[in-house]
Parts: sequence; C-alpha cells; structure tokens
Amino acid sequence: MASNGVLDARERGGVLSRLAAERFDVLVIGGGITGAGAALDAASRGLRVALVEARDLASGTSSRSSKLVHGGLRYLEQFDFKLVYEALRERDLLVSRLAPHLVKPVSFLYPLYKKVVERPYVGAGLVLYDAMEGTRRPVPHHRHLTARGALKLAPALSPGRLAGAMLYYDAQVDDARYTLTVARTAAAHSAVVATRVSAVELLRGPDGTRVTGARVRDEESGHEVDVRADSVVVCAGVWTDLVHELAGVRAGYSVRMSKGVHVVVPREAVRADTGMIVRTDKSVLFFIPWGERWIVGTTDTEWSGDRAEPAATEEDIDYILAAANRVLARPLTRSDVIAVYAGLRPLVAATESNGSKPDKGPSKGAKPTTKVSREHLVDVPVPGLASIAGGKFTTYRLMARDVVDAAVGDFDRKVPASVTDQLPLLGADGLAAVQAGAGRLAEDYRVPRPVIEHLLGRYGTLASQVLDLIRADPALARPLADGHPYLRAEVAYAVTHENALHVEDVLMRRMRLFIESADSGTGVATEVSSIMGRLLGWNRRRRAAETRRYLDLVAAEQTVTDIGSCSVRGAALAGASAG
Ligand SMILES: Cc1cc2nc3c(=O)[nH]c(=O)nc-3n(C[C@H](O)[C@H](O)[C@H](O)COP(=O)(O)OP(=O)(O)OC[C@H]3O[C@@H](n4cnc5c(N)ncnc54)[C@H](O)[C@@H]3O)c2cc1C
Repeated sequence: MASNGVLDARERGGVLSRLAAERFDVLVIGGGITGAGAALDAASRGLRVALVEARDLASGTSSRSSKLVHGGLRYLEQFDFKLVYEALRERDLLVSRLAPHLVKPVSFLYPLYKKVVERPYVGAGLVLYDAMEGTRRPVPHHRHLTARGALKLAPALSPGRLAGAMLYYDAQVDDARYTLTVARTAAAHSAVVATRVSAVELLRGPDGTRVTGARVRDEESGHEVDVRADSVVVCAGVWTDLVHELAGVRAGYSVRMSKGVHVVVPREAVRADTGMIVRTDKSVLFFIPWGERWIVGTTDTEWSGDRAEPAATEEDIDYILAAANRVLARPLTRSDVIAVYAGLRPLVAATESNGSKPDKGPSKGAKPTTKVSREHLVDVPVPGLASIAGGKFTTYRLMARDVVDAAVGDFDRKVPASVTDQLPLLGADGLAAVQAGAGRLAEDYRVPRPVIEHLLGRYGTLASQVLDLIRADPALARPLADGHPYLRAEVAYAVTHENALHVEDVLMRRMRLFIESADSGTGVATEVSSIMGRLLGWNRRRRAAETRRYLDLVAAEQTVTDIGSCSVRGAALAGASAG
C-alpha cells in the first residue's frame, strides 16, 4: 500500500497536480458507490487509478437511498432471482468480512392481514430468501409470529385486522459513510481521489477513435487540466447519458430516473423494536430504524427535472404518511416529520443496439419504474470508454468488478482478476479485538464508553485516529450538537482524513445532521465552519461565507421540498447565525 487511505482536504492542491502530471491506467468519472467501488477494484488489481467526482463523494444517489444492504424481498415477486441471489451473497460478505463495522444486521417485521392466503405465500418467499444465502449465516433465519407476538414487538401496529407476522433479517448501512470508506480504501491502494472536479470533455487519441482521458475542471477554481488514462470508466449514475454526450457516443443503454422520497420521524412516534415492511398498492413501504429516528419510505415515480436536487412534493409526503397510517394505531402527521429527502434511481433501459438511437425517455408503453429491473448493464461504446449504470448499492462490488473487467479488456498486458471479495474495507481488519478492548480504550483516552461505541460504529478500527485528535486537543471531545452523538473531533477528522471541503460535506454526509436534526444542522453550522476554518486557513469572512452557503443550501432544499407549508417540526433557520 502506498498510502494509509487518508484523504486530507489540506492536501488538495497536491492531488490536483498529480491528476495533471501522472498517466493513469484507469480514470473513473463519478464518486458515488459505483465509482468508489470501481476505483477500489482497479487499484487493488495493481492499476494506476484516478477518480474525479464533480461535487462531494456520495453527493448523488449514494447518500439518498433507503440505506439497506438487502436482497430485496419484493424482487422475488418479479422473478428477479439472479439479482436477489447475488445481492444476498453480497450482503452476507459485507456483514461478515468486508465491512462489519459499517453494515449491520437489522430485523424487519412483515405484518400479515390475510392469514390463510398471505402466510404461505410470504413464508415461501422468505424460505427462498433465506435459502439463497450462503452456508455461513451472518444474519438469523426468518420466524413466524402470531398477532400477539407481532404486537409485542411492534405495539405501534393497529391490532384491528392483524392476523400475524413474519420476522426476517437484512442489513443496513450509512450509505454516504460507506461510499467514503470505499474511496478511502481505494486511496490506501494508491488511487488518486479528487472531489469537486468534473469531467467536462473526453479526450481522444491521435486517430480520433480511442478515448484517452478527460479534460477536468476544478469546480473550486475553474482551472482545467487534462487527465491521461488508458481507459475511462463512467460511473455517473443519473448523469451517465450526459457524460456519454461529452464523448459524442451513444451507449447500448440509456438511464431512466426514478425518484424515491423518504421521511424521517422520531423513534417515539412509532413504538416498535424492529424495522417493518408493509405492502402498499404499488410496492412496499419500509420503517427503517435509524438511531433515535425512523426512516420511512419510499416512493417510486418518474423524474425528469434537475439531477442534482430532486424535489419531494407534498404528494410524495402524503403518500408515505397515508401508506404508513394504514398499519399504525397512532397515525403519523406532518408535525412528526423531522426531515424529507429525495434520491434518483439510475435505472437502465437497453437501447436497440450499440450505436443505435438512444431512448428519448419513457415511451407511452414504457414499464412503470417500479417494474424496471435493478440489474446493471455495462457497455463499451468506443475503445477506451467503459460505462455502467443501474444496479443497487448492495451489488456495487459486482458492478465495479464488471465495469473494470470491461475497461481493461483490450489492454495489451494481463490484468489480474478482481480481488475485492477478499479485501476488507479500512476499519474492518481486527475489529473484533478492538471492540473487545473498548473499555480499555475508554480509560486510555479518558472518554466515556458510549463515545467509544459510537466511534467504533462509524470508523471501526480507525476510531483511534479520531481519539488521537481528542488527545491532542481535549476540547474536541465535546459533543457537536445537543441530543446527537457526534463529536467536534469528527468535524476535524472529516477535514484531515475524509476530504471534507465545505460545511455541507460535514453536515450532510460525514455526519447526517441534515436528515437527523429538526433544524437540519443549521444551528451548528457556525461551529463546524469554525473548526474547519482553523484547519483550512479560512479567515473570518470565509468562515461566515461557508456558514451562509450551508444555510442557503438548506433553505433551497426546504423550498424545493416545499417543507415550509408542511409545518415540519422546528425547521427554523432563524436561530442559526452566520458567524
Ligand atoms: C430512494 C432510493 C432508495 C434506494 N435504496 C436502496 C437500498 O436500500 N439498497 C440498495 O442496495 N440500493 C438502493 N438504492 C439504489 C442505490 O442507492 C443506487 O443504485 C446507487 O447509490 C447508485 O450509485 P452510483 O454511484 O451509480 O450513482 P451516484 O451515487 O449518483 O454517483 C454518481 C456520481 O457521479 C458524479 N458525476 C456526474 N457527472 C460527473 C462528471 N461529469 N464528472 C465527475 N463526476 C460526475 C455525480 O456527482 C455523482 O456523485 C436506492 C436508490 C434510491 C433513489
């Protein structure tokens, strides 16, 4: 390993110089889970890799998902057996070996309302679901529950029509943190990772056919440089078609955007000791436990608006609350909603053939997006350019392997096969021993035991790096915001190890106050700006501007999601000051 996987925002200048100066085997465009995965896959095969992300790591779909690492029970009904099988294998690999610090088992209760018809049907599905796992079982087997048993676990359910329930297991993850950790692991294998750097043009070789790199723009300064690479890999999610246009190529597929919205409510609003999944007319609705909150969703509707800021509507929120209230004894209301977020699924639709006319969006007879397969497609529209879209967060590792295989397919040297199934992410190796020594760590670093648990759950064995910052400056041990477990040290760490360049990188993705806090984290924006500013050399004016930038961003999000009119709890910007 050439580096220890530190992405230090203070060294960004050096990263940009390397992009211009070095020649790479593979240049990855896009820093969501697919691009981070591709960078890790390629770098761990011994290739020279660069990754450019136009905004922040995971700022697209990869921070806006349901945060489940799952087979997807509902895909069984669509006979998508291959997808479910692969996804369950991946889930188990991540929970048990590759990222046990980040991917954690979670139970889901599936309430049954038609005893005779539903139990055998759902039960058979779950037998199949469980059977698709490998022989080593990192999550428990499903169980049948009586109505009484179900109400004991989930008193929030309305007892009226309840006939019983099934309890099964999947896994969950902080999607943004996971993406970041994959990118850091890629960096630990020598990948050069640059954020707020967009690909603006694809370069061609002397004969005009092969793609040989990309012209990229530093979005912070506007400065452009050429990055040379033997192969360019496009992992741009819902932006894929736009990147293909940069190259003037038509790939063998086009990307349809499907919007999914979630609402976040306090834990006490739904009394249950397990996650829940309930049927809706169109699909399913999840109640996903998220610390002291629930994430409830999702929706699935066609989207053709702004890719960067998908907007939830009143209708989306009403749909989720109505679907939830069909099963709850105490209905959720708008006043329970702490936050709303929307993301765009990059669903792939194959076009006639490579080079044929791309889809112009859904035709009249197009399938509804709920029915479009979540499998991925890889294409090499011209030599030197491999591109991938579709898939799921859960299957990112397989997607990465497939697109890198395609990218190196015509290299004149042998490239080793993917090894990421044997490569624990940073923070995973030796986790059990560090967890066992949590008490000792608490004593050594003079912090309460719950702080150690919190850090281990987010950084795994790298928690000691955060603790070292606290040892050097004990003031950083103070919590950042009342009622939330995050520490000031984690803001500093986000800059020195996790490439956070702006306040929103910290509050939206390194920690999740944007969706977890009723004020979206605006109340601590000034403090975050001040901690970041000390490290990044921001003067007073810059610190104020960075705070203001975050407040404006939150205000804009709340305008587009029309939260103002849904009286979301405490969405008060007034209390936050730009210091
Ligand atoms: C509502 C919802 C719920 C979901 N729930 C789940 C779930 O529970 N489990 C699951 O497995 N999957 C889930 N998914 C699917 C999963 O989230 C996505 O498949 C995955 O995050 C897509 O990742 P990506 O890297 O392909 O795209 P993205 O995360 O969008 O990344 C693409 C990146 O490319 C960058 N980019 C674009 N153009 C350029 C350019 N020119 N130069 C540089 N960078 C560029 C963008 O800024 C962006 O960061 C869900 C999706 C949605 C929308």
